[in-house]
Amino acid sequence: MNDIFNMTKKELQTFLVQHGMKKFRADQIFHYMYKENIFSWNDMVLLPKADRASLETLLPIFFPTIVSKLEAPDGQTVKLLLQLHDGQTVETVLMKHDYGNSICLSTQVGCAVNCAFCASAKNGFVRNLSAGEMMAQLLAFKKYVTPELHSIVLMGTGEPLLNYTNVLRFLHMVHEKDTLYLGYRNITLSTSGIVPKMYDLAEEGIPITLAVSLHAPTDAMRRRIMPITNTYPIADVLKAADHYFEKTGRQVTFEYILIKNVNCNISCARQLVQLLGHKNILINAIPMNDNYDVGLYRPPMSDMEAFVTYLQKNGIRVTLRREMGSKIQAACGQLRIKRENI
Ligand code: SAH
Repeated sequence: MNDIFNMTKKELQTFLVQHGMKKFRADQIFHYMYKENIFSWNDMVLLPKADRASLETLLPIFFPTIVSKLEAPDGQTVKLLLQLHDGQTVETVLMKHDYGNSICLSTQVGCAVNCAFCASAKNGFVRNLSAGEMMAQLLAFKKYVTPELHSIVLMGTGEPLLNYTNVLRFLHMVHEKDTLYLGYRNITLSTSGIVPKMYDLAEEGIPITLAVSLHAPTDAMRRRIMPITNTYPIADVLKAADHYFEKTGRQVTFEYILIKNVNCNISCARQLVQLLGHKNILINAIPMNDNYDVGLYRPPMSDMEAFVTYLQKNGIRVTLRREMGSKIQAACGQLRIKRENI
């Protein structure tokens, strides 16, 4: 299927010429889509009527439809559940920060990695998203929620490094002058630690921020909540992260979900210091979004504070993430799963 959102301007030019239209129409079309949020051939009034009619059949625009929209009471987080051309749904979240709006995109429908705490994997892996479907999530937010986008995080449903080719294509596309012209430094990719692909990413020459979902200080503990540890043990993940830093100059962030009675006690904090204390890294501590299905919950605030304070006292830079989205089920996959299980 030809998908306009999956096309670079060059590819669209070729397509137009192949079908007897003028190459420069691609400039107008890209302007309509990326600068004016217009996604219907009919509304692109600068195009000749005949072109609009041909494009309607040759290259129909499928813009995702909103299945549901949730807004946190403080207005800081907006979540859309979007329906794709084949009826599958994906979640996209907008988070308003002091420095600007950040959008959290999904890279797959479902997920194969199967982390215990995460709702995304619950109904299994369905399919990869195309670069165009990632772009369409972004454009849906621009059109329906806000045109102001400062940064992108690939932290929604899916494991981006298991959809490597499409994710890379998307990253190149958003960086283009004719689309969003977004700086690579404003993009973060979060991975559960797919080691060979972390090495590949370091070679791409795109200085995006890499975030690694660590969530436990030892292989034994991590295996219980992240079975991917059986394939890629922590030591290998850390080596790949060091390599990424050496190659790109971009510091790697480690995410650590704080889970009650699992990984948020002083003994874990001590082990984390042993593991990471000598490195110049940042830990992003994230209070667990309660998952009643699997019985994993957020620890009491006092435990989370004690954990974070221990790390800080031992020289680790750590932030306790603001709990955005917990009230609107913005943690990966929660909204989609809720709908599928109704
Ligand atoms: N597959 C990638 C990106 C998607 S998950 C990865 O593993 O990093 C994005 C982040 O959300 C990860 O750090 C993940 O561990 C976290 N997450 C998933 N479920 C969560 C929950 N219930 N509460 C808090 N964070 C969660």
